[in-house]
Amino acid sequence: MSTDTNCIFCKIAAGQIPSKKVYEDDDILAFHDINPWAPVHILLIPKRHITSMQDLTPADQALLGKMMVKSTELMAELGVTGGYRHVINTGPDGRQEVQHVHLHVMGGPRPWAKG
Ligand code: 5GP
Ligand code: ZN
Repeated sequence: MSTDTNCIFCKIAAGQIPSKKVYEDDDILAFHDINPWAPVHILLIPKRHITSMQDLTPADQALLGKMMVKSTELMAELGVTGGYRHVINTGPDGRQEVQHVHLHVMGGPRPWAKG
């Protein structure tokens, strides 16, 4: 497994930093965002360190597809029935703050803090 010792999401994936986990398997992890924008705001990450969407290769297609499909299952499990937003920020112009690919999924009744 490729990890970056300075990466906060690699540390969360390794259990070195606590998180409110929603789902985990060999490839991906889902946890609640520490600073939610919406009543339900989860992040899905690959456990393997991938810095940004700009670093994806065709070999990552199944991994990213798994994150998308799992996100929908998890929002249903979390009781989000009225819809939600998927967001992925990429690079400096995309305002990506954590340099490990993550899929934001935000939902729940409005109003939301942002977005
Ligand atoms: P970005 O701007 O990179 O797309 O979003 C990074 C997200 O990670 C932010 O929404 C931020 O609240 C969240 N985040 C940053 N550090 C932590 C952390 O240590 N734990 C959790 N659960 N979320 C974090
Ligand atoms: Zn990482």
